[in-house]
Amino acid sequence: MKPVEIADGVFFVHSEMVNWVLLTNGDAVTVIDTGYPGQRGDVEDSIRAIGRDPQGIEAALITHAHVDHIGSAQYLADTYGAPVLVHPNEVAHARRECHEVATPGDVLSNIWRPGVLPWAIKLIRLGGTAKYGIDSPTPMPVPGALTCPGAPVPVLAPGHTSGHTIYHLPDCGVVISGDALITGHPTSPVSGPQLLPQWFDHDRGAAAESLRIIGELAADILLPGHWPIHHGSVAEAAATARERLAPTR
Ligand SMILES: [Zn+2]
Ligand SMILES: [Zn+2]
Repeated sequence: MKPVEIADGVFFVHSEMVNWVLLTNGDAVTVIDTGYPGQRGDVEDSIRAIGRDPQGIEAALITHAHVDHIGSAQYLADTYGAPVLVHPNEVAHARRECHEVATPGDVLSNIWRPGVLPWAIKLIRLGGTAKYGIDSPTPMPVPGALTCPGAPVPVLAPGHTSGHTIYHLPDCGVVISGDALITGHPTSPVSGPQLLPQWFDHDRGAAAESLRIIGELAADILLPGHWPIHHGSVAEAAATARERLAPTR
């Protein structure tokens, strides 16, 4: 999982199970999403691989508080003093005061679907069943660009979770979309721009509506939470995902 520099100071880290993004300004680093609990070493290694030190983490931003995206967040906060910024609408979920996640029952009832069992086994190996939250998430100031390296602009794109947030980098035409728009998933039968299978979404209708929000952003590079980078109009990618929507997936 070698970081790939997508634009000046924008690095995409793609792993089989989940992705994260590093933004740099000099030696300072913003981490957007933090992998599974079992990937904390991978997150640190990815920072070293781009010639930075994890001590330089200025902020950890979260798209949403599912364990595959916040898995190293508390560790980064405890070890490097990095604040973990989440959208105000995602704070309660990050603290595990509410639950907006596929349950073990959801997984079991879909285990017959192609890809779900191998995915679940890998999830367990990466610590994905841990009861895991963030002790003291910092509500990020919205709206407008954040002041951390890369100056990402948070955009609320709810549905997958209530406070799911994507990040726009308007200067380089990049959207970091978390699970609001992905290009594939181990449990999905298709590849290309899409929503996750329906049972992963807290509110499918809102997730579908959020594709319109994503489609309004000026960008031609999509860095999804799962599966590889997508080059091309993000508006068209969001439209493709809308076209693919089917109630029984
Ligand atoms: Zn998720
Ligand atoms: Zn995810």
